[in-house]
Amino acid sequence: MDILNYTDDHKKFREDLRAFLAKEVNPFIPQWEKDHIVPKEVWRKMGEAGFLCTAQAKEFGGHGKDFLYSVIVCEETSRTGFTGLTASLHSDIVVPYIETFGTLEQKKKYIPKCTSGECISAVAMTEPDHGSDLASMTTIFEEDGDHYIINGTKTFISNGINCGLVVVAARDPRADNPYQAISMFIVEDGTPGFGRGKHLEKMGWHSQDTAELFFSKCRIPKANLLGQLGGGFIILMEKLQQERLVCAIGAVCAAEQVVEKVIEYCKNTKEPSGKPISKNQGTQFALVEMATEAKLGRVFVDKLIADHMEKKAVVVEVSMAKYWTTDLAKRTVDRAMDIVGDPGYLEAFGLARGFRDVRVMPIFAGTNEIMKRIAAGFMGL
Ligand SMILES: Cc1cc2nc3c(=O)[nH]c(=O)nc-3n(C[C@H](O)[C@H](O)[C@H](O)COP(=O)(O)OP(=O)(O)OC[C@H]3O[C@@H](n4cnc5c(N)ncnc54)[C@H](O)[C@@H]3O)c2cc1C
Repeated sequence: MDILNYTDDHKKFREDLRAFLAKEVNPFIPQWEKDHIVPKEVWRKMGEAGFLCTAQAKEFGGHGKDFLYSVIVCEETSRTGFTGLTASLHSDIVVPYIETFGTLEQKKKYIPKCTSGECISAVAMTEPDHGSDLASMTTIFEEDGDHYIINGTKTFISNGINCGLVVVAARDPRADNPYQAISMFIVEDGTPGFGRGKHLEKMGWHSQDTAELFFSKCRIPKANLLGQLGGGFIILMEKLQQERLVCAIGAVCAAEQVVEKVIEYCKNTKEPSGKPISKNQGTQFALVEMATEAKLGRVFVDKLIADHMEKKAVVVEVSMAKYWTTDLAKRTVDRAMDIVGDPGYLEAFGLARGFRDVRVMPIFAGTNEIMKRIAAGFMGL
């Protein structure tokens, strides 16, 4: 029995999205990888077609659909083997901060633009010297009449160049308790004192506009505080479950896509004797092991999706899934490369980009070591 119940409407949505990606995204991937950016126009097309902010409430400008539509967007964009168009980060990680913790005015102001793709969103936590340890961040804010003034530098921010709004975490330097010192703010493109650094040259994710962001006496109205003053940690913690689940879904899809590709290659490629290489026992063992692991990942993640939709607290399991599935994606593409050999090393084959792109998955969205620390804590270790 399937763990997730997809209705005909979900299936139609998946087909429409797959067709959209085949027409509007796939043919342009090589060019965007060279340009190191995805044109903003693509986000607008995706928004117009109804594929952004599917889960946000209709009254705030979203599509009011269940989380399975988010899952479909995550799966289908992952299936393209292309990481530049971070729709899930936008719709299922950043915009939910605004939907859950924003004021009515903030929701009405920002969510419709995020749904249409007119405004691309980003979240800025990481700093040049502070990744995992958020409590020690050095970006600070101070009050100045009706405004807050933010000073500091963020780095490795996905959508950093294209974003029209960024949810920024900053610390009150006067607060004693580091866990009550962080607040979250919405900073819009064009705000005085908000600047973007260079587009970071990375090992993979070439068309993802990961960038540095600078806040230099960046003055924002007090209305742009997100949630409670000093409530930043609570905001970040509450959304971690979905953020890491989305990451795990993407990782399982990456592994499945590689397994599919390498099996097809082995069935269709013949040895000089004329025998398909899939008939070699050694290759069969490797392919079966890879397919089994991908299925294990799929069952684990689908169960967590079901639990998440039932609003169960599965932070520990999601932390385990984030570490296990991202390691799975990494070793799957590595093994596929060994099986395919030379052709796999060519850009045109499609494995090389995957090899580069999955490498970061165990590192970002909370490193896999941190995932294990979280699980260890909950296990009373
Ligand atoms: C492509 C890309 C996109 C990104 N997008 C974003 C984004 O949109 N927004 C954003 O804010 N950030 C983003 N990041 C940053 C990402 O979230 C950080 O890389 C991550 O938090 C890890 O931080 P760090 O690399 O500085 O590692 P550090 O925290 O410096 O850790 C270094 C090493 O020490 C280990 N370590 C640290 N603390 C512990 C501990 N307590 N116990 C055991 N081991 C520990 C880590 O596991 C790691 O191996 C992105 C990064 C990349 C590469």
